[in-house]
Amino acid sequence: MFSNFTDPLLIDETSYQGSLTKLIRFGVFFSIGTNLFFAFFYSLRGYPAVMIWVCIIAAGIAATSLAIQHFLHHNWLAAQAATFSIYFTVLPFTMITGGIHSSSILWMVFIPIAATVMSGSGGGLLWGGICIFTVICFYVLNEVLGIDYTVIASTGTDRLVDLLTVSLSALAASQFNERRKVHVIRQLQKIRKKLQHLAIVDPLTNAYNRRYFFNHAQIQLARAGITGHSNAVVLIDVDHFKNINDSYGHLIGDQMLMGLAAICQENLRGCDLLARFGGEEFIILLPHTELEEAEQIANRLRTIIDQEKIPTDKGPLSLTVSMGVAVSGPGEVLDLYELIIRADQAMYRAKGAGRNRVVSAD
Ligand code: GH3
Ligand code: MG
Ligand code: MG
Repeated sequence: MFSNFTDPLLIDETSYQGSLTKLIRFGVFFSIGTNLFFAFFYSLRGYPAVMIWVCIIAAGIAATSLAIQHFLHHNWLAAQAATFSIYFTVLPFTMITGGIHSSSILWMVFIPIAATVMSGSGGGLLWGGICIFTVICFYVLNEVLGIDYTVIASTGTDRLVDLLTVSLSALAASQFNERRKVHVIRQLQKIRKKLQHLAIVDPLTNAYNRRYFFNHAQIQLARAGITGHSNAVVLIDVDHFKNINDSYGHLIGDQMLMGLAAICQENLRGCDLLARFGGEEFIILLPHTELEEAEQIANRLRTIIDQEKIPTDKGPLSLTVSMGVAVSGPGEVLDLYELIIRADQAMYRAKGAGRNRVVSAD
């Protein structure tokens, strides 16, 4: 029965990493796609064959980041390989198409954007630095030192293609980043809901936990202080629970507690609040309930518990409980601790009187 247990926060961490993996994969396919596009475009433009090979090798480098993801499970490294594959083509192309005057230099704007999207602000700053340094180097090389490696100067068509592809790529990257942000926010909202649930519910029995009970009951009693209505508390303790553990084992004992909580939950009103008070003790807050009605509810529940069999791995088993009932208001207004102490004393009297019964605080 415990084999299904998974840490909810772990699931979210896995799916967060999964979304990053997908994003980098998108970057890789983008790099392969643009490199192959430019290999084709430049072969039409009659560029030297070596440049076509540069594009193909860059596509290969991009593909290695898929291997890094697959074998090393290292998203950051994979993102650097994908970014480098873009830089690897842009650098020689810029060099042979006019350096600082080439339209290919526009890609230096896109590289830090791609790096930021794939590997966060650290990666973005790293590649921003590399690209700014590269642009300055081109300027110094071409304009200050007068060194020029131009083979084919950028034309108006090149400028148009570069401008359009760079701006479309930047648009795609920022859109992708925005969607990812929304995805991450949704993930965080899911985690918050799970944490809220974990914080108020007892993991074994799914009843509310003690802390939630105290918060809720204190508010309810404070409200009663204003409106003057009665609130009842029922304390439940399983009879001879040690015997159940000793006879069938602790796991069966756990299953009995789960079954007991389920029976209580099914047979209470929507406004009643069941909580696990401790070990094999439960507590119920019955709002707007006078003593007589509280006794009736407790007795009905005790009878059902006595009669119903709880399904366990060792077959259906039964148990009995002793209950103590105490009421606050309208005649005598008690604070929560006082109310619980009275219910507890009544419950011990039920034990003393032979168990499997309901006793009310006088
Ligand atoms: P009594 O009728 O006097 O209440 O007898 P009892 O055997 O129930 O006595 P007591 O309330 O002192 O014992 C409670 C036992 O419940 C002891 C402890 O081992 C067991 N218990 C507490 N929490 C859990 C739990 O989460 N799972 C299981 N299986 N047992 C628990
Ligand atoms: Mg007990
Ligand atoms: Mg007990």
